Formats: sequence, C-alpha cells, structure tokens
Amino acid sequence: MNINIKKGYTKEVNIREIQAKSILRKHKKIDSWFVSRYGMNFYRGCLHNCVYCDGRAEKYNVEGEFGEDVAVKINAIEILKRELDPARKRKPMKKSFFMLGGGVGDSYQYVEKKYQLTRKALELFCAFKHPVQILTKSTLVKRDVDILKKINEQSKVIVNFSFSSVDERISKIFEPGVPLPGERLETITYLKNEGLTCGMFLMPVIPFITDKPDLMEKSIVSAKEAGADFIIFSGMTLKQGRQQNYFYEVIKKYYPELLSEYQHIYLPGEWGNAIPEYYQAIHEAFYSLAKRYKIPIRIPADFYRDYLNENDLVVVILDQMDYLLKMMGRKSPYGYSAYSISQLNQPISSMRTDLKKLKGVGETTERIIIEILDTKRSAYYEKLLWYL
Ligand code: SF4
Repeated sequence: MNINIKKGYTKEVNIREIQAKSILRKHKKIDSWFVSRYGMNFYRGCLHNCVYCDGRAEKYNVEGEFGEDVAVKINAIEILKRELDPARKRKPMKKSFFMLGGGVGDSYQYVEKKYQLTRKALELFCAFKHPVQILTKSTLVKRDVDILKKINEQSKVIVNFSFSSVDERISKIFEPGVPLPGERLETITYLKNEGLTCGMFLMPVIPFITDKPDLMEKSIVSAKEAGADFIIFSGMTLKQGRQQNYFYEVIKKYYPELLSEYQHIYLPGEWGNAIPEYYQAIHEAFYSLAKRYKIPIRIPADFYRDYLNENDLVVVILDQMDYLLKMMGRKSPYGYSAYSISQLNQPISSMRTDLKKLKGVGETTERIIIEILDTKRSAYYEKLLWYL
C-alpha cells in the first residue's frame, strides 16, 4: 500500500494485524529516566523511519523491513484492560507512571490515526486513574488533548517529544517520516497552554552532526522558549548489523567525509556504544549549556513525588542525584544505594533505624533518605537539579 505519511514523504508500506499475548512490560526496578515501572508498545516497527533508530537492530526482532513494515497488535486494548483490572490481581500494581512509546515504535505514528490504540489505552488509564507519560515525535498527540487533560486532573500526564536537534534540514535527512522540529516545538507550546507538563528528549544527538555545542544550545533555547519543563539528553548507540549498515548508507550519501570518524568512535561491541571519551565530551558540553540556561536535565520530583510509593520515590531521587553528580564530573555513592533499596521487599520506612545496614548507605545517604521519607523532598537533590 502506498501511503502519504507526511507532506513530501510517501512510502510503500505493509501493515499487518497481529494478536499479542501481553502488553505491559514490567521493570523490576523503577526506570528513573521515565519514572515508570510499566511500558508498552501497540505497534511493532515504526513508519517514522528515523535513520538512527535502534529498533532496527536485530536484537529487537522486528520483522520485515524497518520503516516500511509495521505490525498492529489489534487485541491490545482487550489485553491491557485485563492486565490493569485490580479484581484480577493478587497484589495491587505498583504506583507508577505508565509509559507509552519509545522502544520499537512511536505510539502516534501514522497507523494510530486509523487504529486509535493509544487513544483507547489512554481512556483505560483514565478509568483506572493511573498517571501517564508519553514519548513521541508526532504532533498527532494533540488529537488526544481532551483525554490527557482529564487524566491530568485526577493524576498526572507528562508528554515528551524527542529531537535529535531543532535543525529542519538535518531532521529531513534523519527523521524522514516525522513532523519537523518546529512543529514539535509548537505542539509543546500548545500542550503547555492546555496545562500539561512537557519535556524535550534531546536524544539521540547524532555524532559530528547534531552534537555540536552551537546546535545543542539552539535546541536548549528552543525548548525553553517553547515552554518545556526539562530536557533529557543522550548520545547515540549504533549496533552492528541492520542499524549500523542502514545508518552508514545515509552517512555515505550525505556526509561521506564523516564515515571514518564514526568508525573511529563506534568499535565492535554488543551494545553499540561509542567510546566512553566521546560520550564524556558531549555530556560535559551539554551539561555546561543546560547549567547556563538553568533547565533541569532530569524530570523534577515536583512532577512525580505524589505518584510513587516511598521506596520508588527514594530510588528515583537517589538515581537522579547519581546522574547529576556524574554529569558534574564528581563521584557518587547514590546509584549503588538506589540499587540496594530497589531490591527491598518491605517499605523502607519500616527499617528507618537500620538504614545503614543496606549496601551503599552511609551517614549522608541515611540523612537524605530520612528527609525524603519525612517530606518527599531532598534539599541536596533540588540544589543539584536547579544548579544552586
Ligand atoms: S520515532 Fe522513535 S521508534 Fe520511530 S523510527 Fe524514530 S526513533 Fe525509532
């Protein structure tokens, strides 16, 4: 079938309807990037066809030609309804955001116009009063502003948009099926005016192309002007096989002079990571820009403290502190203590006097944990988050 995915981008696509066995992906430890324990995808494959997308990697077993073939889980809502139903559970679900998107398919890609699985899922989250986070590159999310506002009135909604930069010419090459950055920024402003919290995910920045400090600065300034509440940053991975081959084909066509630079920083390895020195350099550059513009680089606790249980709140705050300190080039014990708390099977308040028995918890961490338990806040965390 030949479809018009967006103005100027028509593609021969193959849409398959499939039956899924389950929908919710549960994380054993709360994901501190998205403040979420549950994720889901209603579509496998993505017609947005971003050149750097790691959904293309063999590891994710997406069948067919990535960017042209998409599978629609047509029974997704029926299954999700069962998975969310408290009457069918021995233990209640953990309080957490439910994360739509990311992974191997955008929840608001072209097929959502017809199937509306994301919209129907939002109706379920609304009925069960769960908070929701969305990560998308599509402006179609505006269609669901009515239901998003309803969820936000009773719990919380955070809508995140991902960008590799705000440069339209680069976006046309690397994100052919996606609305242009300017349209995504306008959508942030629109949703902010509707009272929703919005973030920019500046990820991945593309090495040697969108990781340049002047372009990162432009992205940060644009996000602030659009009204984004925070920016989450990350570099690009490039797994050997389909993902790397496809990416290099595009580099050969548009930036042939950069090919050897890529080969220099992406060495063979299972996860497709670039060399640590490269990531360190871009993180340092991003951190100093974010500090200059005073924009948080993690989701601030104001947006999630009332929607997590006490253990998860402590874990997320400690994990975020760990990230922030490392961005400043400092050592941190907090990631380790967050991990040991995430392994507990009891509420952390029940061991208030024994906190130091936990691996990685010393006197300072103990003080921070008690402060979080008493006030749901940490003065030290806020200082780090807001560059005070
Ligand atoms: S929108 Fe996201 S999932 Fe879809 S192709 Fe782009 S990076 Fe991949």
